[in-house]
Amino acid sequence: MGMKVVRSPDEMQALALRESLNGASIGFAPTMGYLHEGHLTLARRAREENDIAAVSIYVNPSQFVPGEDLDRYPRDEARDLERLEREGIDWVYIPTDAEIYGTGFSTFIEPPPAARGWCGDSRPGHFRGVCTIIAILLNTVRPARMYVGQKDAQQAAVIRQLIESLRFPAELAVCPTVREPDGLAMSSRNAYLSAEDRAAALSLSGALMDGLRAFRRGERDTQALLREGLARIGNTPGTRLDYMGVADHNTFEPVASASAGDTILGAMFVGETRLIDNMILTESE
Ligand code: AMP
Repeated sequence: MGMKVVRSPDEMQALALRESLNGASIGFAPTMGYLHEGHLTLARRAREENDIAAVSIYVNPSQFVPGEDLDRYPRDEARDLERLEREGIDWVYIPTDAEIYGTGFSTFIEPPPAARGWCGDSRPGHFRGVCTIIAILLNTVRPARMYVGQKDAQQAAVIRQLIESLRFPAELAVCPTVREPDGLAMSSRNAYLSAEDRAAALSLSGALMDGLRAFRRGERDTQALLREGLARIGNTPGTRLDYMGVADHNTFEPVASASAGDTILGAMFVGETRLIDNMILTESE
C-alpha cells in the first residue's frame, strides 16, 4: 500500500472510521509542515507502534496571534511528502483553511489550566487555537495514539489536559526534543535565522543547560537556577528574552523551588524570530 494524501476532511474521517472500526490502530502526528528530524521521530513512532501511521500538515491560522508569522510560515509540501513517503507513512492529511473553518466557524475550545502563563501570556489566544484544531483533528483522524514533541512542553501539557477533560479516546505520547549537533532545538522557524541569528540562538539552549547543570549540582532555588542563563542571554547581542522559568511537572505552573521532573523553559526573540526551548530537570544524564 502506498502513501495516501487526503485533502478532504470528510474523506479523511470516513477512511479513519472505517479502519478503526475494522480494528486497526491509528497513530497520528499533527504538524504544521516544513518537516525536520523532530517531526520525523514522531512519524516514525506512529509507524512503529500502530497499524496505520498518519501525519497531518496544516498551518492552523487560529493559533497565530495577529502580527505573528502566519503569512510567511515556511512551507514545502513536495519535500514534506517525499520525506513522509520514505518513512513509510500511510496517510498524510492536508486540509485547507476553508475546509477546516469554513464561514462562520465559532466553536472554539476554552483551554485548560496548563495554558495559563508562559506562552499563554506572550501569545494570547494561541492555546485556544491549538485546543480547537487538536479537537478537530482528533475527531477527523481518530487515532488510538497521538504523538507530540517535548519541544513544545506547554503545548503537550495543554493537550494532555484537553484529552483528559474532554475524554478523547486517544493516548498521548510525548517524544524527546531533537537537537542540532550544537544543541539548538530543531524548529521549522530556524529557517528564518541568518548566520548571525543562528549563532545568537544558541544562547537559549545554552541558558537552559546552565540551569540544568546548576540543578545537578544541587541548586533548587529557581532564581538561582536561572541566574547564569539569564546573564548568558543578556550578554548575547541581538536577543531579547521573553520568559525563562521552571514549570511544575503536573500543573505547568511556575515553581519557586525546583524538583526533579519539573521543566526549565524559555522563550526568546532573535531579531524578529521567536524561539522556545525547554529541558526536563533530572539528577543525572
Ligand atoms: P510544529 O510543526 O512546529 O507544529 O510541530 C509539530 C509537532 O512536532 C509538535 O508536536 C512539536 O512539539 C513537534 N516538534 C517540533 N520540533 C521538535 C523537535 N525539535 N523535537 C521533537 N519534536 C518536535
